[in-house]
Amino acid sequence: MSQFSFQLEATDPETGARAGTWTTPHGPVQTPAFMPVGTLGTVKGLLPDQLRDAGAQMVLANTYHLALRPGSEVVRELGGLHRFMDWDGPILTDSGGFQVFSLAKLRKMDDEKAVFRSHIDGSLLELSPERAVQIQEDLGADCIMCLDECPPANDVPEKIRAAVDRTTLWAKRCRDAQKRDDQALFGINQGGIDEGMRTRSAEALVPLDFPGYAVGGLSVGEAPADMYRTLDFTVHQLPEHKPRYLMGVGRPVDILEAVCRGIDLFDCVMPTRNGRNAMAFTSSGPVRLRNAVHIRDESPLDPECDCIACTRYSRGYLRHLFAAKEMLGGILVSLHNIRFYQKLVHDLRIAVKSGTVAQFRANQLARWNAQP
Ligand SMILES: [Zn+2]
Repeated sequence: MSQFSFQLEATDPETGARAGTWTTPHGPVQTPAFMPVGTLGTVKGLLPDQLRDAGAQMVLANTYHLALRPGSEVVRELGGLHRFMDWDGPILTDSGGFQVFSLAKLRKMDDEKAVFRSHIDGSLLELSPERAVQIQEDLGADCIMCLDECPPANDVPEKIRAAVDRTTLWAKRCRDAQKRDDQALFGINQGGIDEGMRTRSAEALVPLDFPGYAVGGLSVGEAPADMYRTLDFTVHQLPEHKPRYLMGVGRPVDILEAVCRGIDLFDCVMPTRNGRNAMAFTSSGPVRLRNAVHIRDESPLDPECDCIACTRYSRGYLRHLFAAKEMLGGILVSLHNIRFYQKLVHDLRIAVKSGTVAQFRANQLARWNAQP
């Protein structure tokens, strides 16, 4: 019997926003949920306990990076990813494809596999659907992803169509290659920002009966309005009673808009990457701590936040840490940003369950847009 189940607890009739509980072998995930990104098996600068205290239920790790360093066999020999990084909650790994196409020097790609050079030492490596599944089985995350081809959003229609069809072909091969029964393998919908292509992808993937579906190929350079429009005609084509995951998105406003279109799961490097660069997301909009206006600022980063950075320190102190290049600055603002994202998805969940999500959305947009 499957160790996974997805229970929808509420759906907002007006927007399609959902609240649910996704049960995994490493515990439940209450949705909508945001996964902090632990690229190399660590959410940069933060301990697992701090992530959990901030409200994170599930984390993401990157297959491409871990396959190169330290190698998936090493992670397997050291007890698998949960033990390796000391995170006993659910974990999701991507397929590695996105980094092969975006980070590595791609040498050759056909329907069989991608051949690429490592961005670390230039060595020649291969990634096929079967290899992507094998690496992810070594790592041992709860949720794993099919290898897909993610074309640029503005690519010509023939290339988008070819990527959709190759993604379908690879999805079947990933499903056939899967040996472990304690990992949920998700199919990935592709198709750029074209309704016909997204439909073509959904119609091919849904019959393969994956336990969950991701929407890939968004937040890759298209305008936010195009992303929202794409979600409008894509999400309802995915099965209602399975989790829906929007890969690599995004800004708080994108998460708000995507929840209001029926997405359940998110991941993005933005809270930690921006945190390391002195940029905080707050209840009244973004704050840039390098700005000189904060030098003598006694006020907390976000008066509505309960994290350590906001309850124990001033903006003036946080700005000083960045000016002095002290590592604690990046740690504290990363922690704050993760807390901000977790509170956002938690508040959205409450709003869906209480039937107030449209009002919640309007209030948030008004507050964020009020930022000077
Ligand atoms: Zn905070």
